Amino acid sequence: MELREIEIFAPATIANISCGFDVLGCCLDSIGDTMILRKTSETGVRIGKIIGEELPMDPKKNVASVAVMAMLKALKVEPNYGFEIEIHKNIKPGSGVGSSAASGAGAVFAANELMGKPFSKHELIPFAAEGERAACGAPIADNVAPALLGGFTLVKETDPIKVLELPSINGLYATIIHPQIEIKTSISRDILPQTVNINDAVKQWANVGALIHALHMNDHALFADSLKDYIVEPHRSKLIPKFEQVIKSAINAGALGGGISGSGPSIFTFSKNLETAENVSLTIKDIYKNTNIPYHVYVSKINDQGVKILKQS
Ligand code: ADP
Repeated sequence: MELREIEIFAPATIANISCGFDVLGCCLDSIGDTMILRKTSETGVRIGKIIGEELPMDPKKNVASVAVMAMLKALKVEPNYGFEIEIHKNIKPGSGVGSSAASGAGAVFAANELMGKPFSKHELIPFAAEGERAACGAPIADNVAPALLGGFTLVKETDPIKVLELPSINGLYATIIHPQIEIKTSISRDILPQTVNINDAVKQWANVGALIHALHMNDHALFADSLKDYIVEPHRSKLIPKFEQVIKSAINAGALGGGISGSGPSIFTFSKNLETAENVSLTIKDIYKNTNIPYHVYVSKINDQGVKILKQS
């Protein structure tokens, strides 16, 4: 039976996992958008409806349609039908958990299914990254790769994009707090130093290696000990109220560690099971209750599948 319509879950993701700035990411399970893609008799890509957020309806500006257009361009023969995209947004844009990446990854995954899967999931990554170019000016893959592949991923190369799929620690949960403050991308970029101290660099790549080893060995203690960032976090954390306190209290409540999600303002922490992740959530809420900053706290297991099909017909 030829598919006409598909509904999918497009997951939120954590990028910039501590020492893995710009390279290490992972996929979340209970935070994400729903998207519906349907074939249309007219060719081309259009945005039919967006519910939940004010986002561009212009297909040249919305990440979802930009990503699908990049995919269609790569086909030898374009289909004789088009696509209409409906986005039900739950992930707030600019929160640091890959709002635009979820749309790009979800859209190319869904369109690929409707076309009978001409591309593998790895082949879809550069198209979803083209969507990111529409959101932030560069075809970055550190959110779209975990959104498509699930689990933990490492962007080994950017031109052309090469992504490695990593194993995950068994039973791992994330607790994320999104303080609803705006950090301008230009400020979070400008605050980073242009040069890196060699001693910090040595510590950083030792931790990246150790973190990857911990994932392969399912070693909770080494994973916790490697979640450190000597290069980016000391600068960017100044932009996030109560950052140090959140991480310290989370670790006291049993978390393995944490850091800045994406370019913030969300803060992520990892825990070895759901019970600990929920305790961490209570502790973090207590810290933010004493501020006048609105916030949301999420608990999610690591999603090892990536984008999921909800319905198709
Ligand atoms: P996050 O920081 O949570 O990853 P991004 O900064 O990546 O979010 O994306 C937000 C930017 O992308 C906003 O400027 C938004 O208008 C733009 N954008 C365009 N299309 C979409 C979309 N479908 N979903 C989310 N953001 C989009």
